[in-house]
Amino acid sequence: MTPKKFAYFAPASLKEAIQLLRENEDAKVLAGGQSLIALMKLRLAAPAALVDITKTGDLLSYIREGKNDNLEVGALTTHDTLERSKIINKKFPILSDAASKIGDQQIRNRGTIGGSCCHADPAADLPTALTALEPEFAVRGVKGKRVIPQSEFFVDTFTTSIAKDEILTEIRIPHTPPKSGSAYIKHSRREGDFAIVGVGAVVTVGPKGVCRDVRVSLGAVAPTPIRAKSAERHLKGKTLDEGNIAEAAERANEEADPPSDMHGSRQYRLDMIRVFARRALNLALSRAR
Ligand SMILES: Cc1cc2nc3c(=O)[nH]c(=O)nc-3n(C[C@H](O)[C@H](O)[C@H](O)COP(=O)(O)OP(=O)(O)OC[C@H]3O[C@@H](n4cnc5c(N)ncnc54)[C@H](O)[C@@H]3O)c2cc1C
Repeated sequence: MTPKKFAYFAPASLKEAIQLLRENEDAKVLAGGQSLIALMKLRLAAPAALVDITKTGDLLSYIREGKNDNLEVGALTTHDTLERSKIINKKFPILSDAASKIGDQQIRNRGTIGGSCCHADPAADLPTALTALEPEFAVRGVKGKRVIPQSEFFVDTFTTSIAKDEILTEIRIPHTPPKSGSAYIKHSRREGDFAIVGVGAVVTVGPKGVCRDVRVSLGAVAPTPIRAKSAERHLKGKTLDEGNIAEAAERANEEADPPSDMHGSRQYRLDMIRVFARRALNLALSRAR
């Protein structure tokens, strides 16, 4: 199918892009187009106008050290760039794990981290991985700039707290302390499919191998990515041995409320959370060590 007719704008600056979003009712930002154009072709979305932000002079594709002990990732950074970035591989392998598992190479060449977050598909890989990193989302709109904490960014399935005339410009990821490791593992039927279950883990090892901090995130099991708080509570302050990790993984599905669909039943997903939480925690721990 072909999309319905729409107007196309390629503004020269973000300021102009924001103005266009404001003036044109039912206009949408176009980034990599890997979700939006697919939906338009299926006629599941029919925006009257697209505002292409890839051609503005404000370059939004970068990975750089920030001022507040964080890493700044521009919203237009592609999945492929994330996967190949040396700094991401070293400091946040959870993001290279997630980026490398998205769709196929063509999609990774064009799809962006900002587009994936704004699209807010609960089964998407980067939003789940980011949920374990507690980043902030910097947005720009008619009223100026604001920063949204991760806990307030994802609101519902395909819904974020970004307003219609706001643009996500940057994701700010706080650095983790020394002896931290992170990992993302995706369970899908075939390579490149969306996750049936996605699990992210960040572990910080303290003195004598005790768990100083841990965060576990889950995707495809609720309307937004969620944290497995019960598993985190179980591990914090305990020795990071096989028994404690296995027990934490057993508890990882307590906050999940997965749907049943053609890819797997609710019970199958609840069971898989336990399996993949254990694997993600073990991989994150081995990287921390
Ligand atoms: C066949 C196929 C397989 C896929 N498989 C996977 C997969 O396995 N895992 C996975 O996670 N994803 C998968 N995807 C989705 C892919 O990751 C997309 O790249 C991503 O979801 C959207 O990024 P984009 O840059 O292409 O955004 P676009 O498609 O351009 O935009 C998506 C939405 O976000 C909004 N938007 C984009 N950027 C901004 C911004 N900076 N500020 C405000 N709003 C913005 C747009 O208006 C639109 O509503 C797949 C897609 C396809 C077509």
